[in-house]
Amino acid sequence: MKAIRLIQPGRPLEMQDVSIPSIGPNDILVAVKAAGICHSDAHYRLGRSPVHPLPMTLGHEVAGVIETVGAEVEHLKAGERVCLHYMATCGHCEYCLKGSEQFCKTGKMIGKYRDGGFAEFIAVPARSAFVLPPEIPFEHGAVMMCSSATALHALHKARLKPGETVAVYGAGGLGASAIQLARASGAQQVFAVDIKTAKLDLARQLGAIPIHGAQLDPVSEIRRMSGGRGVDVAVELIGLPHTMGQAFKSLAIQGRLAIAGITEHGFQIAPYWDLINKEAEIIGVSDHLAQEIPELIEWARRGTLDLSQVISRTVPL
Ligand SMILES: [Zn+2]
Ligand SMILES: [Zn+2]
Repeated sequence: MKAIRLIQPGRPLEMQDVSIPSIGPNDILVAVKAAGICHSDAHYRLGRSPVHPLPMTLGHEVAGVIETVGAEVEHLKAGERVCLHYMATCGHCEYCLKGSEQFCKTGKMIGKYRDGGFAEFIAVPARSAFVLPPEIPFEHGAVMMCSSATALHALHKARLKPGETVAVYGAGGLGASAIQLARASGAQQVFAVDIKTAKLDLARQLGAIPIHGAQLDPVSEIRRMSGGRGVDVAVELIGLPHTMGQAFKSLAIQGRLAIAGITEHGFQIAPYWDLINKEAEIIGVSDHLAQEIPELIEWARRGTLDLSQVISRTVPL
């Protein structure tokens, strides 16, 4: 089969001819119909984030049709449309058992630590697959499995409740989902901060109040538009110390900041004013959970989560 592989960081990906993966008794083989190209894939190609062993077939946002199922797989059958959770996990370690399987002791992300979906076929544990209803196109099913799932996990980690207010820092792929999911969860007011006008226009269309972070100070704008209160939940999806600081300062009393943007650099907080005095919280968001995917699929099926504008371009394998 054809597969698009990372051979060496810093070099273009290459099309290779590889064998169709074999499956174990608890695995499934999926004929890939759509695979998202994520910003992380650009990081992997550049060597900014580890990928091993090499060569590796990239692609961690995958949807397709089941080709074959392993001997012990009972809940899925050939011909079913599925989308794939990107963590291939063991299902029985301490973390898998308590529902935090992103920390699975032997877990491997597809397209990073085991072959991914930029190929004609992919093999994954059957527990990674979720049936994709006919109303959801494969393309949506694919991108949903990364940016939308992580956005939903961030809102869950921040314990967003109906009637609360939200600030989304970063209105890209993750942000477009975060805005829609926050609104679907009953957020009363959603602010979207970005420095790209096109992204802010999309944020407005999705029902957020756009704030241009380069033209205005988002912290004072959010305070001004919330009657001085700030927001109950802020999500940082950019990965910059500066915007993490702004997101934290945007919080209301007992506000929660969930950080999903990635950086190795620190950001400063004033513990008395910004943390203690408000009983504010800073929460880390690592990937997402398989158990969150059915909720996501249901919102996409109903059209509450519309991903048509997140897909900017489609290219053949
Ligand atoms: Zn991704
Ligand atoms: Zn495990």
